[in-house]
Amino acid sequence: MEELAYSGSADAAALRSRMTRCGGEEWNYQFSCRTPACATCRGRYIGRQRRAAIKRFAKHENHDLAFASIVIGATDYVDEIGETFMKFRKDLRNVVDANRRQRRRWSNFEALLWLETDALSGDDFVHLGSDKKAQLGEMAPLFVRDSGPVWVVTAHGVIACPGIDYQEVAEDFRQRWPGTKRVDVRPFYDHQTKDQNLGYTINYALKHECRTHLGQFAEPWPVGWMAEYYSYLHRWSRGFQSTRISISPVAIKSTNVILSQYNKDELEEREPLPFIYSDSVFHTYYNWKDRT
Ligand SMILES: [Zn+2]
Repeated sequence: MEELAYSGSADAAALRSRMTRCGGEEWNYQFSCRTPACATCRGRYIGRQRRAAIKRFAKHENHDLAFASIVIGATDYVDEIGETFMKFRKDLRNVVDANRRQRRRWSNFEALLWLETDALSGDDFVHLGSDKKAQLGEMAPLFVRDSGPVWVVTAHGVIACPGIDYQEVAEDFRQRWPGTKRVDVRPFYDHQTKDQNLGYTINYALKHECRTHLGQFAEPWPVGWMAEYYSYLHRWSRGFQSTRISISPVAIKSTNVILSQYNKDELEEREPLPFIYSDSVFHTYYNWKDRT
């Protein structure tokens, strides 16, 4: 992240100096900076998360797993990103616990989600597609100002819902996080192996590309935004730890799970998983293949 050198803030300079030592000879090549801005450390982290997820979901079939994405909230203070994400962690647990009290099939529900942050200026907002504009307008009527970025906090990742229809999960989440397309739950592809699906999903969830997507175009964040965001993330994330949410299944004696009564006739046509259209994710995917 050469850009950090030019942003002028003391935080960014300290962060850059830490990243410069990462893997360098000064510490006999042993020092890992563990900052989310570091491409090397992020790459290692993604690899570890992917291997852990493949192990964790080994007992599940492709059709028990789904990609999930929830747009949590928006704030114009970078320091509120963590708080927003932590509150979501609590809310998600409450939603799952409430379901578990009423419906036994939710005992086996699992979630593994990661923080992603988008950033937009008031100018960017004007150029968004209508759904995204509606969604952000409902959540954060902040876009009248153009003084700095609005940070949009999102969680993406994998859910395991054996015995529960993914649409039931989506609908439950939508009740807790209502609004235009804030919740997206899609089943894993049948034509790919489970490990491929997990690999794609985790690469997508952890991509952190620091770009603002405006329709078909994506613009890199201004250097000042990157410096502000990554300095904050370094302070808050405890070396990636805080950026992850994991919900485990309840240990139960009987695995006699009652299947969901969800009405399949009402299901909408399945949309493709979002990452199939993303060049950047294919790029990551190929890197992943090369490394595995
Ligand atoms: Zn590093």
